[in-house]
Amino acid sequence: MKPASRLAGIELSLIRQINALATPLSINLGIGEPNLEPDETLCEMARTAATTPWRYSPNAGLLSLRKKIADGTPFDPKTEVCVTAGTQEGLFALFQAWVDHGDEVMVPNPGFVAYATLARICGATVVPYHLELPSWRVDASAIAKRITKRTKIIVVNSPSNPLGAVIDDATLRTIAALADDHDCIVISDEIYREIWYGSPPPSMLGMGRNVLVANGMSKSHGMTGLRLGWLMGRDEILKPVVTAHQYATTCASVFSQTLAEQVMSDPAWNGEWLDRVRAQFTRQRTAALEAIERELDARIEPPAGAFYAFVPVPSCDTETFARTLATDAAVLMIPGVAFGTAGEGFVRISFAAPIDQIGIGIERAGRWLRAAGR
Ligand code: PMP
Repeated sequence: MKPASRLAGIELSLIRQINALATPLSINLGIGEPNLEPDETLCEMARTAATTPWRYSPNAGLLSLRKKIADGTPFDPKTEVCVTAGTQEGLFALFQAWVDHGDEVMVPNPGFVAYATLARICGATVVPYHLELPSWRVDASAIAKRITKRTKIIVVNSPSNPLGAVIDDATLRTIAALADDHDCIVISDEIYREIWYGSPPPSMLGMGRNVLVANGMSKSHGMTGLRLGWLMGRDEILKPVVTAHQYATTCASVFSQTLAEQVMSDPAWNGEWLDRVRAQFTRQRTAALEAIERELDARIEPPAGAFYAFVPVPSCDTETFARTLATDAAVLMIPGVAFGTAGEGFVRISFAAPIDQIGIGIERAGRWLRAAGR
């Protein structure tokens, strides 16, 4: 028996492979999952959601939730919002709906592993665009040079996983205009948009006719397991995506949809929640940056968003480093190469972990490197 050829060469991501090495005693700076505990209000909302009817919703999601998502935007909740089983399923449906064999998909390198993999599953060619150190800047003219007639999708991710980098408004507008000029889609993955330090990152929403924005509740509300995301953009782009989404999951969990709707119906509580989330991650970011400088002898530009530090590790194969660190020192970090070739020589440290564990984990990594003479 042989799996379908579309999956040839596709494996579970290196992120999941490293996480599979975890033991109950491991310090996990690997997983991209916020360490947020629901407060009493959020628990009460979940109790209410648990006793609200459980039937299927329309494929694109409860209209009442879509109205909340589209509130304040020019998009029509009836035709221009689709609620998905996490942002991940939204991306899957988008690629299934729009990407053919022989198409080209532009992805950031380093970038979130799903983008290139979803393109490969559709038989497309992955065209990476490189980012400029020290702040991992996106150069829109470099994207422009690589657009061809076969470019179908340009993926933008700000704030970025694994870099924490934020793309400025002018660059986002240039990319949106490029996509409109060349008749291709921009998917702007904004799942980390609520997690910022300093000033809120700009959104691509409404910047161009061909921009589709992806977002969700996983990172902002610690709802990773509840699988709730959405896509928003022009009806002509979204329509085939809703069809693909129907055959993937029918509709997102109605429990999770009801919970999301309650969160969005209480902007006062939600605003306070997000402030608390940012304050918590700010403390964790400070702890991580201090430990990185002290223990790994590395100074990096502080990430402007998300909860990742992408740190250079001197002269070693970072996949072997991450695997050995996981098995010998019980610390999980993700080798940068998991996010593309340009990630070699780096590790991604997630500081979405209890503050004491951040210091201990990074200290152990430093000790391992010193013992190995690096
Ligand atoms: N996009 C990015 C950049 C991510 O980091 C993640 C989760 N790691 C996702 C999308 C998927 O998020 P979810 O499916 O939980 O909404």
